[in-house]
Amino acid sequence: MKLLSRLPGVGDKTAQRYVLWLLTTEESLARDLGAELTTLRDELGPCERCGNVAELPKAGEGRALCDVCCDGKRDGKLLCVVARVHDLMAIERAGTMRGRYFVLGKLLSPLEGIGPEDLPLDRLQARIREDGVTEVIVATPPSVDGEATGLLLKRELAPLGVTVSRIASGVPHGGDLEFADPITMGRALAGRQRL
Ligand SMILES: [Zn+2]
Repeated sequence: MKLLSRLPGVGDKTAQRYVLWLLTTEESLARDLGAELTTLRDELGPCERCGNVAELPKAGEGRALCDVCCDGKRDGKLLCVVARVHDLMAIERAGTMRGRYFVLGKLLSPLEGIGPEDLPLDRLQARIREDGVTEVIVATPPSVDGEATGLLLKRELAPLGVTVSRIASGVPHGGDLEFADPITMGRALAGRQRL
């Protein structure tokens, strides 16, 4: 129970609820869950090319490549750069990204002592050259660190001759305009499109 409560978003009460539920639901569920967790770290790991979650190859066989990198229908010339795998998954859920991804793993953050040398810029540049990428979409979060990372990428990737764009940010779908903060509202207006 103590271990369950260490999961993100799970406190003591929720952990207790999980345990009680696992004790009363079908017996196989707790056992299957346990078996999956036991092999999780051996079976899944980062994709060699983009950093997404990938199935790890069995000893000595093939490479660890994720579903997106293996998808032949994707446009290899379009590359979306994200900070974390969570962000990649959120974009995938939207279902409109036709290119591939590159996960940075972290954002530039002077306050936390994370400088340009801590970001995998060499790997990103190599990837762009190898794949003949022509457009990079920077999909870092709309925060100070996210913006700083976007500007750094624009500067670092400029010599490669690729178009670097940034995702728009604005008011959330289904949201109320009155609750949007001033920065978000300003961006929503600046990023307006002709109807
Ligand atoms: Zn991949």
